[in-house]
Amino acid sequence: MKGQESFKLSSSERVEMSELLSSLWTPQLQMALMVCVVILVILYVLSIVWTIRDAYRRGDLWPLWGVVSLVPFLGAFAYCLMRKPMLKIDQDEQELEIALKQRELMKYGECAHCGYPVESDFIVCPSCQSRLKNMCPTCHKALDPSWQICPYCATPMGQAQARRRQVVRQ
Ligand SMILES: [Zn+2]
Ligand SMILES: [Zn+2]
Repeated sequence: MKGQESFKLSSSERVEMSELLSSLWTPQLQMALMVCVVILVILYVLSIVWTIRDAYRRGDLWPLWGVVSLVPFLGAFAYCLMRKPMLKIDQDEQELEIALKQRELMKYGECAHCGYPVESDFIVCPSCQSRLKNMCPTCHKALDPSWQICPYCATPMGQAQARRRQVVRQ
């Protein structure tokens, strides 16, 4: 019983406490607290908007994440941890970039003799002057040595070239 009494505050102490509280509870403090609450509310609303927008842009299930983000801050935090790793637009762009690079690699090659980078329509290596391709006698386009006919102007490849190929094969 004695212990309980020691926890009770006497009336004079209570008055002192309330005076202390009211002296602390200044309009400035009220104002500061108000600002904090407003900022927290704004951040909360923004976190929901951001989560929904981000999920939508990533092609994720945005209505589901919208509901999850209603849990103040924890929802948005959980989304940050579990969201899809890349934006859908970025993903498409990257795939396109890879495809373009592959096409570029196909267009450009290397000289078999010196390794100098050459384009697909080069006939002679600009570095070591070794012959890379045959040239069509009619349209003067670069042709692959294995082609029997020019795909640009339909000129059949000459007998001399065919014979030369045979000699090379033997
Ligand atoms: Zn070369
Ligand atoms: Zn041709």
